[in-house]
This record gives sequence, structure tokens and C-alpha cells, in this order.
Amino acid sequence: MKVCVLNLGCKVNQYECDSLTASLLSLGHDVSDELSVADCYLINTCAVTKEAERKSRQYVGKVLKLNPRAKVFVIGCAAEKNAEQFSIKGVTFVSGTAAKEKVLDFVEGVHIEPLPSEYEEMKDALNFRARSYVKIEDGCNNFCSYCIIPYLRGRVRSRKVEHILEECKKAAVTTDEIVLTGINISAYGSDIGSSLTELIEALSVVSARIRLGSLEVGVVDEAFLQAIEKAGNVCPHFHLSLQSGSDSVLSQMNRHYSAEEYEKKVELIRSFFPQAAITTDIIVGFPTETEDNFEETMAFARLIGFADIHVFPYSRRNGTAAYPMGALDPAIVKSRADKLSIVKSELKRAYESSFVGRRLEVVIERKDGVFAEGHSENYIRVYVPDRDQTIGKKNTVTVQGEHADGLRAE
Ligand code: SF4
Repeated sequence: MKVCVLNLGCKVNQYECDSLTASLLSLGHDVSDELSVADCYLINTCAVTKEAERKSRQYVGKVLKLNPRAKVFVIGCAAEKNAEQFSIKGVTFVSGTAAKEKVLDFVEGVHIEPLPSEYEEMKDALNFRARSYVKIEDGCNNFCSYCIIPYLRGRVRSRKVEHILEECKKAAVTTDEIVLTGINISAYGSDIGSSLTELIEALSVVSARIRLGSLEVGVVDEAFLQAIEKAGNVCPHFHLSLQSGSDSVLSQMNRHYSAEEYEKKVELIRSFFPQAAITTDIIVGFPTETEDNFEETMAFARLIGFADIHVFPYSRRNGTAAYPMGALDPAIVKSRADKLSIVKSELKRAYESSFVGRRLEVVIERKDGVFAEGHSENYIRVYVPDRDQTIGKKNTVTVQGEHADGLRAE
């Protein structure tokens, strides 16, 4: 049977899709991750924003148009949040974020498993990307006021170190970069008497370089950075979630740090890794964000000198603590997102151009016969002439100058 496995969400969803792909292939199915005509569709939905949820519904409509007689399985965060929105004619099965492998057994109806209290092992993901994703935990206990995810993914469940190590070692055979993913990887180990620091120590034997997914401020301390330094295989790239540079907005967001504390953590990181890429997520247009609060965020972004910023216009999610706070005028939110995006572009360019003339290690992700491109250890997109580079393999290159959305190197 031809099966399309479609991911509409984050790297955790992608990992789960890759794992289900591995299972489907081992069951003898022909599997694709591209939207195309198929006998069966497996759609891993996202609910992180209204737009993500709308896109998830739209994909269901798209696949039903492509083949109205196909089996359509809808799983993931948007289905966990509101299964009914997918219970439409033509959809075979709707499930949430738990027991995703059961999708292989069910043939019809709506079925939401209760959220588990321990990490659910899935089959190791099929590693067919240049960079492998390895999931280390699920769930989050933070309940940031704008975020629906803890309600959909449940509490932190950490995967056993030995399982993570085993999957990383397997992935390292075919790729030179492994990305550790999870809903809140900073909380790794809190439920099993371990920590992300201990996991990094255990993974120091992996031959591929390790990139950490999104981090929370609280995880950064001397011991954590010493472990990274000692391991020697962790990328100097810290995606340290900020969300706002205004203390009053941070407090309304239920984020338990101040801008000053965040700045101190960045200083600590830079005392270990002076050239590290500090990237972040910022939400603009939170309901209580004033023009002054937004200006604080802009000034703070410049102060830190982020290497990149993911700018998210606030998305009001029913069921979150921030929902009753209402929402700002969409035109204001858009204008703030546009302004911050300009700052992000300036900062990104400044960081990237500081590497002209220097050497970087690039894992090749794609090539077109003219250029091969991939990301450096500090997450800069780098283009090199395509002279028989191998996808998934690391090249040491010397940066010549700026190119497209990154750098050009030889
Ligand atoms: S840390 Fe906050 S934003 Fe991230 S998943 Fe948990 S509640 Fe959501």
C-alpha cells in the first residue's frame, strides 16, 4: 500500500513521523513524506498556533481531494486538542499524542488514548535526512500562559539514556549530525533522577556532532556548560527561548526569569564558547504587551546580539491561561512582527559576516549540482561548490563571503 506520512509540526512530530515511517516500511508499505496520491495518509497535526491548527485541517481536506477513497489517519497535537474538528467524512481514524503506534492497528473511529505517565518507546526513527532527529523526552510541566502544549502532551516523560545512546550510535553511522529533540529537553531527566547534563556526558562517545534543541534559561549553569565543553561533540549553538525582553510580559507569560537573568546566562555561555550562536524564539503581540514593552524586547534583542530569532505573532489558544486576556489588534501584532523581523535580519547578517575568512564545519543537507548547502556547527547556512559532496557528511570549509541567506565557502 502507498502511504503518505505528513508532518505539520515541530521536530518531535517529525521524529514520530520518521519512526512510523520505519514501522510502515518494515510492514512492507511504500512510504512517502510528500503530498501525493496514495492509498493511505497519516497526518501528524500541530496545535501550537491557530494557523498551525488551520493548516492541519487544510491538509486533511487536501488529501481527501487527492484520493477521496484513501484511508486518512489524523494524529498529534491538534487532534488531542479537539478531535471533533477532524471527525469528518472520509477520515478513518483520529487519535491524539499518546500511543501513536496504535495508528497502525486502528482502522476506523475516533480514539484518544489517555496521556501516559512514562516515556513511550517507539521504533527508532528511520534516518533518511542529512541530520537525524533523536527524541529524548515528551511533555512539559511549565504551563507558560500562552501555550496549549502541556495540555496536549502531558507531563515530562524522559527516555532512558541507554535507548537514546543506542539510537544516536545507529544514526551516527549515516549522518554527522544528530539533533536532540523533545517538547522541553531542558527538563530531561527530572522524572527519572537524571538531567540533560548527565545525558550530554553519556552521549560524549557518539561520533556524530550533537545539536541541542530549544533550551530553557534554567538549564544553563556551569556544570551544564562544562559537560558540553568536556564532551567535545556538542555544537556551540544554544537556542535559548526568550519570548519577551520585558519583565512584565515575561511574568504574564508565566516564564520564571527576568531579562537580566537571561542576559547573565548568555554571558555565562559566552564565557565558555565566545563565538557560540545564541538563537531564540520571541512572541510579539502578547495581550498585555504595550508599545513600551515591545520596544524593550527590540532593545534587548540588540543587546544580546542574537544570531537568529524566530519571530512568532501571538496566537490566542482556547484553554490556555492567557486566553481570557483577549488579543491585541492584528494590525498592531503584524507591525511588531515586521519590525522585529527587520532587527532579526540585521543581527543575523552581523553574526554571519563575523565568520568571513574563518573555518567552519558544514554537514551537507542538499545539493543541486552547482551548490551543496548545509549548516555549520553554529547554525549558519553555508553554500559550497558542489564537487561530489556527500549528503549527511561533514566538510571543513573556509568562508569567502555572504551568499543568499547565509555564507559562501570553499
Ligand atoms: S516550556 Fe512553555 S512554551 Fe515550551 S512547551 Fe512548555 S509550556 Fe509550552
